[in-house]
Amino acid sequence: MTEPVYEVAIIGAGPGGIAAAHLLRKKGITDFVILERADDFGGTWRDNHYPGLAVDIPSLWYQLSFNPNPEWSRLFAPGPELYRYFQDTARQLGLYAHLRTNSEVVQQKWDDASGIWRLEVRDQPSVTARFVISSVGGYINAKAKVDIDGIDDFEGAVLRPNAWDDDYDPRGKRIAVIGTGSSGVQIAAALSEQAKSLDVYQRTPGWVLPKIDFEFSPLARKVLRLPGFIAAVNMLGRVLMDAFMVVPIVHLLPRLPDRILARLLPLYDKWSRLLYRGLLRATVDDPAYRKALVPRMGILAKRPVISSAFFKALNNPNTALITTAIERITRNGVRTADGVEREADLIVAVDRSRDLPARNDLERQRLRPRPLLPRTRDAQLCGHCASAPAQPVGDRRTDRLRRLRVDGLRRDNGRTRGTDDRRGPPPRCSRRRGQPRRVQPLERADAS
Ligand SMILES: Cc1cc2nc3c(=O)[nH]c(=O)nc-3n(C[C@H](O)[C@H](O)[C@H](O)COP(=O)(O)OP(=O)(O)OC[C@H]3O[C@@H](n4cnc5c(N)ncnc54)[C@H](O)[C@@H]3O)c2cc1C
Repeated sequence: MTEPVYEVAIIGAGPGGIAAAHLLRKKGITDFVILERADDFGGTWRDNHYPGLAVDIPSLWYQLSFNPNPEWSRLFAPGPELYRYFQDTARQLGLYAHLRTNSEVVQQKWDDASGIWRLEVRDQPSVTARFVISSVGGYINAKAKVDIDGIDDFEGAVLRPNAWDDDYDPRGKRIAVIGTGSSGVQIAAALSEQAKSLDVYQRTPGWVLPKIDFEFSPLARKVLRLPGFIAAVNMLGRVLMDAFMVVPIVHLLPRLPDRILARLLPLYDKWSRLLYRGLLRATVDDPAYRKALVPRMGILAKRPVISSAFFKALNNPNTALITTAIERITRNGVRTADGVEREADLIVAVDRSRDLPARNDLERQRLRPRPLLPRTRDAQLCGHCASAPAQPVGDRRTDRLRRLRVDGLRRDNGRTRGTDDRRGPPPRCSRRRGQPRRVQPLERADAS
């Protein structure tokens, strides 16, 4: 039996890696390494620094329980503040001593004979450990290229949320933002005031819920510093979240028989849409935009975007919402399927610019096929038929609820596709009700 170099190897130095390292140390395990392909702690918050980036969960909850921070500038902290917070946490905990930067793990392999994990690190000697904690996050690889027809012909600048060029000055530019997910909405809202013109290209309207955000005054920060205060607020929030979201959505709804659920959920969606139309009437001036912004999918189908600034931005005279499908990018801008070409100096490509975790080039090997799949794997398996977030796997009730949502999305897609949308019918999920989940065979490590 070979002795491993480390007791534990953690892959990834994002929030998850920091938490794992801290918990190991709390258990008295100090012989560990954190392998990070980039050059610092921070994960998502290190890699993303686009204009308008902010957390969409109040910072008093989006923080590590073992390092509550009373210094947040506002309820929804901006991205750079989160990056600093994770760096500071790692520094305070002395985790930099365990960090190996620029160390991308390309393969993790169990060596049966030696009883150790062997991690192949790009351009470096391999690392061995008795245990591996994979903390590579959910948004793994930026796609190498923006995959919109004609993008290579474009003569202006192309930026993506996870590869933002901070030196690019967007002031006075004609900007096209393609995609209205969380990042697209944040970027559009941040650039609207500065741009000469801003065209926001929306393919699928999503739910954009108000963000009740405010700055913490010096007095509020004094209160946050009171011993136990943040922990109490955190606990209260979690109880409310459990009472109003987790219990009804995760525990109550899935217990209902299918026939009741199938009637209840459309009703729920109808009411949500009614309220949403009220929100749009109160915040968006243009009736045509209001109509185009009503989501076709149900409110439970996908994590909503949280922003109060986006609808306001759409009221700016320089900002346009374009819902006609994009045909291609041209030398000077974006051409839509109706033949209209809108010129741009900068294209912000948000749509589909990230690869799903499954396409990460970290090849995993496990000894035995497991009865349950990790969450990310599940997202991959059903990701082709719905963008619904991965649910905890193995819980038959949540699984059933997700299938209903997926069915809802599919029905919805079929009914509402515009005439100029050339994508063809939505892909079908190959798994039928009652059929076991299709598990991609996991390679068995070679024991020899
Ligand atoms: C733009 C953006 C905004 C977000 N906003 C929110 C939000 O408001 N609220 C929320 O709850 N969630 C948000 N998320 C999700 C966010 O990613 C998680 O909340 C959190 O960062 C997950 O932490 P993590 O440590 O698991 O993963 P990450 O933060 O993704 O960290 C993973 C780390 O692993 C490293 N890594 C990956 N592969 C390898 C490899 N093969 N070898 C070595 N290192 C590797 C990466 O470089 C990275 O440092 C957002 C995500 C993005 C992309």
